[in-house]
Amino acid sequence: TASEHDRAAIKVHDIGLRLHKNADGETGFEVLVGGGLGRTPFIAKTIKPFVSGRDILSYIEAILRVYNQYGRRDNIYKARIKILVHELGIEKFAKEVDEEWKAMGDVGLTLDHAAIEEVRSRFSYPAYEKLPHMPDELKQAANDPLFERWRKNSVFPHKVQGYSIVVLSLKPVGGPPGDATAEQMDAVADLADKYSFGEIRVGHEQNLALPHVAKRDLPALFKALDRLGLATPNVNLVTDIIACPGLDYCSLANARSIPIAQELTRRFANHDTADLIGRLHINISGCINACGHHHVGHIGILGVEKNGEEFYQITIGGRADENAQLGTLIGPAVPYAEVADVIEDIVEAYLALRDRPEELFGRITTDPFVRVADGAELPGDGAVLVTAERFLADPEALLRRSGKLGVIWPNNRSLEDLVPHLDRLASVALVFPTFRDGRAYSQARLLRERHGYDRELRAIGQILRDQFVFMTRAGFDAFEVKKDADADAFAATMKRYSVFYQPTGDGRVTALNRRMQLRHSESASQ
Ligand code: SF4
Repeated sequence: TASEHDRAAIKVHDIGLRLHKNADGETGFEVLVGGGLGRTPFIAKTIKPFVSGRDILSYIEAILRVYNQYGRRDNIYKARIKILVHELGIEKFAKEVDEEWKAMGDVGLTLDHAAIEEVRSRFSYPAYEKLPHMPDELKQAANDPLFERWRKNSVFPHKVQGYSIVVLSLKPVGGPPGDATAEQMDAVADLADKYSFGEIRVGHEQNLALPHVAKRDLPALFKALDRLGLATPNVNLVTDIIACPGLDYCSLANARSIPIAQELTRRFANHDTADLIGRLHINISGCINACGHHHVGHIGILGVEKNGEEFYQITIGGRADENAQLGTLIGPAVPYAEVADVIEDIVEAYLALRDRPEELFGRITTDPFVRVADGAELPGDGAVLVTAERFLADPEALLRRSGKLGVIWPNNRSLEDLVPHLDRLASVALVFPTFRDGRAYSQARLLRERHGYDRELRAIGQILRDQFVFMTRAGFDAFEVKKDADADAFAATMKRYSVFYQPTGDGRVTALNRRMQLRHSESASQ
């Protein structure tokens, strides 16, 4: 992955590479080894924090040589790098690789500048136009609620102004997840030619992406996708389920995967409910080979066989991103007929817990960001917070730097200059110069609700304890406070109210949402 937010699941593969810059500004790779799922799942560990692009192929060759030398190739179930790393320990494995790398000498795998440039020349950028950030077509389409729902869910920021990345959901309600008909594929190819420089990407989430769509074309593209049944606004939501073929097609399966996914999409078909639940990944595998990556789903479902019957083990808390972890088994396996009910119960429990943030929030933590004054030298690595002036003077240079970047945005400055960069910022700090000046509340809501900013939103300046509730409701999730006791004050303040009427971008269930949920579950059970 080349992103701070890993979308390539590098921690669950034999070898994972994270592209980043070192303290000297040189581009290279953090190398991880030993990840994998299946019957013995492991999360990969870092073996080398930085290997230059020049040396990456020879370093990987050294890893493979060590594996070939010591790996358990006598046993098909243990013939994986993850098993060797587990048995040797990461330090010993790293030492063996380093020694092998040194001993190898030049094996013709060094990538010199000319070789890298040769590869680069084959990945030229499309001929982007100079386009406005907010074209008229988009402003007009904002009145169409169906378009807006789809845009907020399935359209993602592009690094070039005026363009977007569009994800095509292959997860219609009641359909087999990840399937597309020949007619749909032909039509998507035509749409890619028309709107995305002929490019289509396939992701491990079992969806498609058009990576370079001009924002002015989004309304027309939405209409075309909607006609094809490819505009379900459920990307990253509870119905965006990853499932393996299971018993329907796979001769190794213990149980069906696809019908479980189909039933779950029917249970959570209501888009308001799915939006309310928010980001939630369900992964289903029909056997322990884990092709559906159930170990790293927020909710994982694994088909097992018991006395000739289909049963399912359920895990929770897995994730496949930069903080990858394996899910925890929550109890005995359940029969096929009960799986959807159990998942509904888990989601309900999650919503109830999430709705009591006083149980989840209120910790004083060490600030990972260092504030760097204008003109002061930036540290080569690590997270930094800079002023808006410094950021806007050369945003690209700061964003290219290794380490997280946050920006302190004054409350008298329009967000217009900040919005094009939001996708690449790790934190935005909004300023409350005095407790009487609440302009940062409006900025927070705009960032969360209009611009879809989902990283840290920090309140700095004069933060009074009785403002905590309003700030979290506006979307703040980090506060610069003065004393340890502020954590207790935060928890106490948050407990004061349990129901809210006003909808905001903080994801909390409003009184109206609760009633709608209740009505929906009553009508679904009739
Ligand atoms: S997880 Fe098992 S059932 Fe599913 S595709 Fe892989 S081998 Fe087949």
